[in-house]
Amino acid sequence: HDPDIPDVTLITPTAPMSPAVHGGRAKCLQRLVRLGMPVPTTLALSFDAVLRCAKGQLPDMGALLAPFGDAPLLSVRPSSQDPDWGGPGAILNIGMTDAVHRSLSMRVGEAAATALYLRFVQSYAVHVARLDPDAFDFPNLTGAHALHAALDMYEQEAEQRFPQDVQVQLAEVLRSMARAWDGTSARLLREAKGAPRDAGLGLVVQELALGVGMGESGSGVIQFVDAQTGQPRVVGRYLSQSQGRDALNDKTGAIYLTQDGRGPALEDLCPDIFAQLLEYGWTARSRLREEMQIEFTLESGVLHILDAVRVQRSSRAQVQIAVALATDGIIPREEAVMRVPPNALSEMLHRQIDPAEPRDVIVRGIAASPGAATGRIVLTASEAQASAARGEACVLVRRETTPEDIRGMHAAQAVLTMRGGITSHAAVIGRGLGLPCVVGASDLTIDRKRGVIVAPGGRRFAVGDTITVDGTTGAVLAGAPAMLEAVLDDAFQTLLAWADDFRDIGVRANADTPADAQTASNFAAEGIGLCRTEHMFFQGDRLGVMREMIFAETADDRRAVLDRLLPMQRADFADLFAIMDGRPVCIRLFDMPLHEFLPYDRAGQRDLAEQLAMPVTDVTERVQALSEYNPMLGMRGVRQGIAIPEIYEMQARAIFEAVADVVARGLAVQPEIMIPLISAAREVEIIKARVDAVALAVQRETGTAFAFKLGVMVETPRAALRAEDLVKHAAFLSFGTNDLTQMTYGLSRDDAGRFMSTYVQQGVYAEDPFHTLDLEGVGELLAIGAARGRAGRPDVVVSICGEHGGTRAAIGFCRTQGFDYVSCSPFRVPLARLSAAQLAL
Ligand code: PEP
Ligand code: MG
Repeated sequence: HDPDIPDVTLITPTAPMSPAVHGGRAKCLQRLVRLGMPVPTTLALSFDAVLRCAKGQLPDMGALLAPFGDAPLLSVRPSSQDPDWGGPGAILNIGMTDAVHRSLSMRVGEAAATALYLRFVQSYAVHVARLDPDAFDFPNLTGAHALHAALDMYEQEAEQRFPQDVQVQLAEVLRSMARAWDGTSARLLREAKGAPRDAGLGLVVQELALGVGMGESGSGVIQFVDAQTGQPRVVGRYLSQSQGRDALNDKTGAIYLTQDGRGPALEDLCPDIFAQLLEYGWTARSRLREEMQIEFTLESGVLHILDAVRVQRSSRAQVQIAVALATDGIIPREEAVMRVPPNALSEMLHRQIDPAEPRDVIVRGIAASPGAATGRIVLTASEAQASAARGEACVLVRRETTPEDIRGMHAAQAVLTMRGGITSHAAVIGRGLGLPCVVGASDLTIDRKRGVIVAPGGRRFAVGDTITVDGTTGAVLAGAPAMLEAVLDDAFQTLLAWADDFRDIGVRANADTPADAQTASNFAAEGIGLCRTEHMFFQGDRLGVMREMIFAETADDRRAVLDRLLPMQRADFADLFAIMDGRPVCIRLFDMPLHEFLPYDRAGQRDLAEQLAMPVTDVTERVQALSEYNPMLGMRGVRQGIAIPEIYEMQARAIFEAVADVVARGLAVQPEIMIPLISAAREVEIIKARVDAVALAVQRETGTAFAFKLGVMVETPRAALRAEDLVKHAAFLSFGTNDLTQMTYGLSRDDAGRFMSTYVQQGVYAEDPFHTLDLEGVGELLAIGAARGRAGRPDVVVSICGEHGGTRAAIGFCRTQGFDYVSCSPFRVPLARLSAAQLAL
């Protein structure tokens, strides 16, 4: 207990007060007093004082009550350090006794006095004496009858008369509010909002402004922006003969503040008061540097300001308000950038379920791609396409997705899978397409025969039933709740442009297709940090060509297929270069885990046999021959490139011919070629020699000179450890933290979802490492790799391109390790730009 801080402080313009001692509400009230607003006499109890109240050591009540005069009427409200941490509800009308009731009846009329007394007895009984709330609800009684019933009930239940001494009443109110703060549920609630375990509670004791009386009396709430859009607008309600926030709760009797043709308004009823409120609002905004909601009371025509709180706001309004305050010179741009949490942008970029809607959640999974969408259940890609052809929205529900499902994913509004984690196929593709996606909903089963999905509790949903996938939270809901649309308004663009001025790490996008690249470009990505070329074959009839290549048994067969692939790739790359318009485009050579490209069931194998004009048995045999126990550690990435040189040579040629084509059209281009899944320097050396040879050949053939960079992905622990060797042949290192996490933990990316939630629940891992970069383990490999890479080549460009790349934790870590840029899915680019700026400020 700090002896310099008094237990109780009378709020005056100069009293020493701080939010860390008295809480946010008390400090805000002092600011209102300083701005000359008519705030009734208010005392602030410090955190320490309230802590002692909880232990029964109350301040001297006589001294405490002295500033309020004889027979005062008071309110007590909580004042936690951060208003978002909550606190016990306000208690009004403390000081009401039989005697005060009599005298007040003369002043404001008996009905009004009785209403005040009844309200106090009820809240005292329930919140202070902790009596049964039902016992104090008298739906059939009004006025004096209800009051007498309440007083009698109190006497009966508490076995004593309702306290008739304001000192006793106030002491008990303070004690009970202090204790409520200590309760388990209150503590859990505020800890969920980020409050520390020992967060303090202050209390403010305020002289009551009555809100009932002979002249115009009442209470209301006013704010000056729209909570949904953040645009300037007077919003609020006023209710005659009322107290507190009644005007918001009892909308029937309450009136609007401004006219707008909606009937009676405070503006007409009391024009002077309304004008005064506008002026206070303007002052509060410019001096408190925030949009405030002001609680006011009229007592026989006299205005009192009781309280002001930060306006509750949607994500969109949050951005709008921050930008408007900075534009008006009230806060600096840096502060506007700091005020918006990056997740708020995510809510703006995608449709969301209206938070005001009731939610009928049927199952939960991993939130893999944000946004929400509604549609009818379909269980196959072809049903999804048929549904799209009919113009009907659908949700594709699969055990897990494979490349065959891509067409279905394009046709669907959302995807739901039972298996897989945050880097599973469905998740990665979903994020790329901006398609809401929930994966790993392992409590769901699909009964294909009956065409139903079965949720926990046995709830069944048939094909054609409507469900909603919320990829932001991981919930799957029955039916079609109301949605809020995505909005990318000017304020959004302005805020991000400011963020770019402050950040000191680059932001690129992972973009596989021209559509992705366009999205990335719209979000001002500084280039493409990862183009997964094998994903270019997930679409349309291209998958078949890819499979033919995988199935080719002789070099001649393979060459024939590669000749068909080459023009497709060349056109893809030319498109990417043109869209990115001179910004770097980092193309990763094929990294195809074979199982992702081969049909795993009989039906798929039959289709493929038909397509390739091969007997089904041959297809099945070949699939078996190619199958691996652990495909994620198998014939992937550079290993295919080493074993079957023609494949990477074809890709290199496609890239360089596209470069030559674009250069010939007079466009700027910065091509980069990246080799995946490196574990040995010799791999790089071999591939580099082949790629260089192709570059020379194309330059000669086309007569066009061009430059390019060649680098590697660091996805195996060995690559990180041997980075000094790798950079002899590589101009850049890009950490693929999906595979690097998989291999550092020895966890399968595709299967870890089965037990990850158990692991996280039991605290084995603090978080899913595929979701949140493990700074301690995987992070150390990043640090080692970057340092060793620089030791071998001081100007080596270092970046991260795993799914972690857009997260705040990873960006923060990469900044401290001096990385040049992060690369993330296109829809995360705005969040990454904002996070990077906040970390730099
Ligand atoms: C990675 O492993 O982090 C990566 C970016 O590559 P992919 O996800 O395609 O394996
Ligand atoms: Mg990888």
